[in-house]
Amino acid sequence: MKIINPATEEVIDQVKEYSSEDVRSIYLELLNGQKIWHDIPLSERVKAIEKFGELIKESVEELAATLTAEMGKPIKQARNEILGAHNRIEFFAKQTEKWLKEEWNSKSGKTKEKTVYEPLGVIGNISAWNYPYNVGYNVFIPALICGNAVFYKPSEHATLTGLKIEKLMHQAGVPENVFKAVTGGKTTGEALLKIPLNGYFFTGSYHTGQKIASEVAPKMVSLQMELGGKDPLYVTDDVEDIAKNAAMAVEGKFYNAGQSCCAVERIYVHEKIYNRFVDEFVKVVELLRVGDPTREDTDMGPLARKEQLDFLLFQVNDALDKGARLLTGDESLESKGNYFEPTVLTDVNHHMSLMVDETFGPLVGIQKVEDDEEAIALMNNTSFGLTAAVFSSNENRAKNILDQVNAGTVYWNCCDRVSPTSPWSGRKNSGLGSTLSHQGIRAFVQPKAYHLRG
Ligand code: NAD
Repeated sequence: MKIINPATEEVIDQVKEYSSEDVRSIYLELLNGQKIWHDIPLSERVKAIEKFGELIKESVEELAATLTAEMGKPIKQARNEILGAHNRIEFFAKQTEKWLKEEWNSKSGKTKEKTVYEPLGVIGNISAWNYPYNVGYNVFIPALICGNAVFYKPSEHATLTGLKIEKLMHQAGVPENVFKAVTGGKTTGEALLKIPLNGYFFTGSYHTGQKIASEVAPKMVSLQMELGGKDPLYVTDDVEDIAKNAAMAVEGKFYNAGQSCCAVERIYVHEKIYNRFVDEFVKVVELLRVGDPTREDTDMGPLARKEQLDFLLFQVNDALDKGARLLTGDESLESKGNYFEPTVLTDVNHHMSLMVDETFGPLVGIQKVEDDEEAIALMNNTSFGLTAAVFSSNENRAKNILDQVNAGTVYWNCCDRVSPTSPWSGRKNSGLGSTLSHQGIRAFVQPKAYHLRG
């Protein structure tokens, strides 16, 4: 499998694409490894993961350069992701013991009852490329601490990163037959579905998630899905500093070239401030520096996947055909690489793909609304339910709106944010189950109830 740099379109490496046979024999190794790993005291497992975290921090420059080269993330953002993800390691290292402790349900009477938490066994982690550290850590860090073995399939667009993670994991003391990365694309992912893993933890698109869910369902094992979104932001008419709010919205939309599951995907603005907000928003967008992702001052690099360029153009043309207005962007960039200019459209509505289908790129529509009621209805008019944000200086008003929005995470005066202490879960087509927080620890164990009479 060729690894192509999305900025230069040059082949930077070539890796093995694992076959079904490879996957089956690795599974047998992991099966053996898991039994031994589970018997190691939890504190030793935590130590190995902490060591992994240290090794990652020590190698940050090399790892960031790799991530930038294979998926086009600006080097500053690559470094931020790698160092920022460390808070997940700290969280799971500190919290897991508390959530795995046996619990006495009934100690009095003739029959005593307790619950213990056992690891699932060998789990599969089929992962995405946009934040390979963040989304990977959400799964394999707690899974390993809880005593599972992990069959890790990094995305084909973050393969070299996945291999480096594997190397450092082994160097940190996690045995080779406990954490194994297999490289490849769709076919390798499908091979993981054919073996009897004890749980499947997937991060990726709804389309792939749906296929995986239907394949895994008859196995009756744990299944978790972190999928896409069409996350709305509503800016009310009471925001005090329109320029500041517009800048926050630009950051929430265009960070990582809009390739974040929780990026702002559509914006609704109260009619009283609509024109001023749009002007400020476009001003900031036009300041974004698009270009070579290895440069320290680049805000936006190329898109990771070439085929996404066509989809973004489709969304622009579909919106323009239906009456939208292009305020900035959409000039074809002549240079080599998967570049797409930051693009803003207004006069948009929900008949346009741009406002209902996940964009996953540097393109956004801004729609005018009359009042909070209309905003709430539009925010909920989606098949997704990952996050939703409200910018307002009135806490009660914001809370009242967010209470009515059907999403796994809601933000007041912030957006595009994930924290290890809070559950990360998508509703509707955005996912199934929850990672992070204590729920993202319990996701990797199964309860066993003891009824003890003696
Ligand atoms: P994708 O669905 O194309 O691929 C995800 C993974 O699935 C890759 O490793 C791929 O090789 C594998 N795969 C593809 N087809 C498969 C099949 N038939 N069987 C088994 N495995 C298969 O998604 P992507 O492009 O890597 O990621 C982008 C998507 O992920 C976006 O929709 C984004 O919103 C979502 N995402 C969600 C979260 C979240 O936390 N909710 C986080 C990051 C990304």
